[in-house]
This record gives sequence, structure tokens and C-alpha cells, in this order.
Amino acid sequence: MTHIFHRTPRSLPQLALRGEGSFLIDTAGRRYYDGSGGAAVSCLGHAHPEVVEAVIAQIRQLEYAHTSFFTSEPAERLADILVQHSPPGLGHAYFLSSGSEAVETALKMARQYHVEAGEPGRRHNISRLQSYHGNTLGALAIGGHRGRRALYQPLLPESHHVSPCFALHYRQDGESDEAYGTRLADELDQTILALGPKTVSAFIAETVIGATAGAVCAVPGYFPKIRAVCDRHGVLLILDEVMSGMGRTGSYHAFEREDVVPDLLCLAKGLGGGYQPIAAVMAHDKVVDTIVGGSGAFQHGHTYVGHPVACAAALAVQHIVARDGLVQQSAQLGEYLQLRLRERFTDHPHVSDIRGRGLFQAIELVARRGPDSAFEPALQLHAHIKRQALARGLLCYPGGGTIDGERGDHVLLAPPYLTTRAELDAAVDILGAAV
Ligand code: PMP
Repeated sequence: MTHIFHRTPRSLPQLALRGEGSFLIDTAGRRYYDGSGGAAVSCLGHAHPEVVEAVIAQIRQLEYAHTSFFTSEPAERLADILVQHSPPGLGHAYFLSSGSEAVETALKMARQYHVEAGEPGRRHNISRLQSYHGNTLGALAIGGHRGRRALYQPLLPESHHVSPCFALHYRQDGESDEAYGTRLADELDQTILALGPKTVSAFIAETVIGATAGAVCAVPGYFPKIRAVCDRHGVLLILDEVMSGMGRTGSYHAFEREDVVPDLLCLAKGLGGGYQPIAAVMAHDKVVDTIVGGSGAFQHGHTYVGHPVACAAALAVQHIVARDGLVQQSAQLGEYLQLRLRERFTDHPHVSDIRGRGLFQAIELVARRGPDSAFEPALQLHAHIKRQALARGLLCYPGGGTIDGERGDHVLLAPPYLTTRAELDAAVDILGAAV
């Protein structure tokens, strides 16, 4: 009997007792390799002694202070670190508690930026189909997942969707990377023109698509083309790196590999490594200067903004990531993981693609491979495979089904950066048996 309203009450989750490095242990003493770092969160694995100590020390010293009156040392230092690791211009951090809050906040910052800049009519936001930006009403509205939105309509009517950049699919016959990127940028351009350029506030995209499609990178040149379209129309570019940021894809920010700098950047999961709920929006100077130079204040806030314990946990995590070279380790171990996945699954009848960056790797599933990678949305193969993997002691990222009957049935792995090659070998073996 449980009094928690679990998401799927008919199949209750296991009871996790404790975490230890890359493993979770249940009440029966069974060990599970956390191959998805929870929800691509636990970049240092579980129970890291230095983070535990930092959290305890902060709770002893100061657990909460209202941010209208006080800032705190861990929050200030964490913001310094984020800015140091970012390109010039991305000079401000606004702390929150979840990825959805970060997305909502970025959308509101964009709106207020336009209002203060004398363009209050900019109210439309555009994102991409098959994207996920969170579950609160605004983030859900802008997310490109019709199925998730269906029960909650009407949402924000000013939300619009264009095609995702999905390197493997949705290309026209023989289309090059260059032509594909140009076609998608043209689609965004046309969408903005159709809405009326002076009515569009922001375009938001995951730099590397995570939960909904499985570690999908854009084709080279796509993001600079999108950036140029946004600039031409005065539309702000928001990159959602809630999942793909903070070293997960082998660079500090995923956008470093895309030759683009966003106006607003959403961060969460790997920022605090799961030790405390924490997220951030990094804002460009031009956005902050315009807001502050206008009405003087960002009209937004949450009770736990810049929570000292959350910031202390994230500060400890980021200190360890930098000191121990874990972003590079994520890149190197990610290459190794992809190699092992290729050895195991290239030519597999149910695997049509092996892809990802850093410790963010996925296999895409099909009913059977063939000239057209025969795809059967109803099968939802990932769910069967994950059950098999779980029974063998491997946790994969729980989401993974196709979206709206489109491509994307997949299994996503996002292990801790502190994992080992031997652990990755064992995980690939289990996944192989499960598939
Ligand atoms: N954006 C992206 C890209 C995500 O992957 C997620 C969570 N999976 C969110 C936003 C929402 O984050 P949260 O669940 O912390 O609200």
C-alpha cells in the first residue's frame, strides 16, 4: 500500500535503498548499474563523499535566506564558475530548482527583454517537433510532443513548432548536410515571416536532443544557420541544455561544438549531479542590460531561487568536475562506449543507428533493418528491452518511445562521468543480451 500518487500506480517502482558510485541498491540488496545516471543527472554517481560533506557543511551554516534580502557565497561562486566557462557575453546566471523552471524563466526573460526594448508585440515562441522542454504548462506548450500535450489543451496558443534536425531522418533523397540545414533554417524563416517577424519572441531548441529522440546531434552548420535567421528577425535563441549540458556530451556546453552562442541557455541535471535540485538560466549581457535598463527588475522569482544548499552541492560537483578533468573523461569514455556499442550492434537486425556525443549515447530500434530501416511505431521495442536490461541489473534512461508515431524508438545511456571502462563493457554486454 502506498499513499504516493505514483505516475503509473499499476506498476509500482522498486524501492531504492542507497547509492554507491555508479550503482543503486534496492531493499533486497540487488545492485543496478545506473547506466542513465538517473535522468542523465548523476554525473558523479552516488554518495560522492566530497559532495556529501559540502552539503552537510552548508546546512550547518545556512540552509535558506530570502533572495530579496540576501545572496549567498555558494550561489555567487557557482555563478562565477558558470560564467568563467562560458563565451564572452553569457555573463549572468539565474538559479532555479528544475529544468522546466529554467525553460519557463528563459521564455519570460525573452518576453520581458522585448517589452523593455519597446517591442511588446513579440509574444510567439517557436520550438521543434519531437522536442522536450519540461512538464509545466508553458514548457509543455512549447515542447514538440503532441501526445504529452493532448490531455492538457488548451495550452499557450502562441507556441509553434518547426521540423527537428535529425541527422538520420527526414532528409530528402540525396540531400547533403548543407542543403538539409539550409532547408530547416528556411522553414524557420518562413514560420517567423508567416507569424509576423515583430510578433516572435524566441526560438528554443535542445542542442543535442535527449529524452524524446535519443542523443540526436544536429547536422554540421545547422545551428549557425538558425542563429542567422533569429538575428535577422530580432528573435532570441534559447538553447535547452538541461540534459545535454555540463559536460554530458564531452564539452562543457554542448553548443561549443556547434559554432553558435545562445542568448539564453537552460541548464539543470548535471549542474548539481542530483545531490540537490538545481537549475540555471544563463543570460546574455544584452538581455540583462535591457531588462535592468528598462523597468529595473526581472518580474519573476521562486521561493527556492539560488537555494544555498543546492548551490553548495552544485559548487562541489563543479569543483570536482573541473579538478578531475571529468568533461574530458566524459568525451573519452563516450568514445569508448560508442565503439563498444558499434562492435555489439552494427548490423544487428533491430538496431538502425548508434549515435551520440560524450557519455550521451543511444541506439535506435526498428522492427527490422532494411533499405528503409523498417520502422514499426506500435512495437515500442525500447520498453521490452529496458525491462530485460533491468532484470539483468542495468538501468537505461526510462523514456524512449516513438513520438507521435514518428521515428525515435530508442534506448539512451547517460552513465556517470566517474564510471569505468569495465563497467561500460558490462553494461553493453547486458544491453546486448536484452536486445
Ligand atoms: N528540458 C530538457 C531538454 C529535458 O530533458 C528536461 C527533463 N528531462 C527538461 C527540460 C525538464 O526538466 P525537469 O524535469 O527538471 O523539469
